[in-house]
Amino acid sequence: MQTIRHFFPELNTWLDDLPDGRDPERIVYEGRFLAWWGIALYLFQLGSRRQLDFELSADGTFVLENLNRLAGTNQQTRPVHDTLDYFLEHSRVAGFDKLRTQMVRRLIRMKTLEEARLLGYLVVLIDGTGLLCWQRRHCAECLVQRHEKTTLYLHKVLEAKLVGPAGMVLSVGSEFIANSDVEAGKSAEAVKQDCELKAFSRLAPQLHQAFPQTRLVLAGDSLFACGRVLQVAKEYDWRYVLTFKEGHMPAVWSDFQELLALSSRNRLEVVNEEGVRQVYGWVHDLSYEDDEGRRWSFHGVQCLETKAGETSCFAWITNLPVSAKTVEAIAQKGGRARWKIENEGFNRQKNSGLNLEHVYSTDPEKLQAYYLLMQIAFMITQLLERGSLLRQLAAAWGQSTLQWFGSLKNIARRLLESLRYQRWPEASYDPQTAARLRIGWNSS
Ligand SMILES: [Zn+2]
Repeated sequence: MQTIRHFFPELNTWLDDLPDGRDPERIVYEGRFLAWWGIALYLFQLGSRRQLDFELSADGTFVLENLNRLAGTNQQTRPVHDTLDYFLEHSRVAGFDKLRTQMVRRLIRMKTLEEARLLGYLVVLIDGTGLLCWQRRHCAECLVQRHEKTTLYLHKVLEAKLVGPAGMVLSVGSEFIANSDVEAGKSAEAVKQDCELKAFSRLAPQLHQAFPQTRLVLAGDSLFACGRVLQVAKEYDWRYVLTFKEGHMPAVWSDFQELLALSSRNRLEVVNEEGVRQVYGWVHDLSYEDDEGRRWSFHGVQCLETKAGETSCFAWITNLPVSAKTVEAIAQKGGRARWKIENEGFNRQKNSGLNLEHVYSTDPEKLQAYYLLMQIAFMITQLLERGSLLRQLAAAWGQSTLQWFGSLKNIARRLLESLRYQRWPEASYDPQTAARLRIGWNSS
């Protein structure tokens, strides 16, 4: 925890934009302090807002002192959990959004993500996930899913996550999917498509605005292999690697298969260390006409993978230059990177103390603020877990970070213990020490 300020010495400056908050007793809390209080909810994986009252109790602990120093504030009491909720109601979601962007920009500027680049581009995964689910309608924004016997009311989010080294995934854009995204009388698959594509149209300009100079390559499933996404990629000069499925673009698929059979020179065979055999094939300049009559040209890549006697076929469309030199990187870093968003991103946030699907608030606006705080905390958590600082510390004891702590959940618990029972040393807050630190990742 002491090292967190080291990663982001500017953090408090960014937090200055936030308004102050009051608790029910009318005690005023500075926005910076309350932002840390909210991040703490997820950083220490407390699981619910109520736990803040118990786990971060100030009596006989260093909680208040440590957090005051972290936030650069001088609060005399600690807030109750309602204070955070009240604060989030009055602070705009945009403030947390900006904070997240500034943190990621800094990591890019520090060149900590270089190793994960694909042909010079940073990979951004686009994918949707369910956040909350109710048996009865809870607000006008609920997405309605009718099943045979029941009707479910959902809140979903479309995420843009930057892929870092060592399996890191950093949230860089979140667009909440609302009821109004759905056109009436559509099948479940068409509803999913409607929702996610409409949300993408709102997400893309924000992503471009947040990272105007960054070379990005979009990765996503076949849903996004369509004119709307290709148009956006063209406008913003983004590259893409999108899943190519027969059912989604039947005419292009049949051209692709026909040309693959003819282009025997565009072939690369690789056997990896685990004995998995991959045969890559590619076709340049496939053409496609979208439903608005726009014409597109891109390359098709196929990977036939044989593992334990079973062969699976994976394919993507891309506007990156495909050759024997690049095809494997495009498929592995771009095409298959999207599996990481499930494993490392959503699943971990659901199945850990972060409790992604817990109802932190029933108010749709506040829900977004809680969601952003979780993404910010998750970024810090990953920096701690996978960054070189903790790794070097563990290595001094001849162990990996995970061996040292036993489990990732334990890291959050040790952090909480340190917050409660230790007065963090002065050196932890020195921005000059911070500026000298370099973060590296554990890619092994
Ligand atoms: Zn709702």
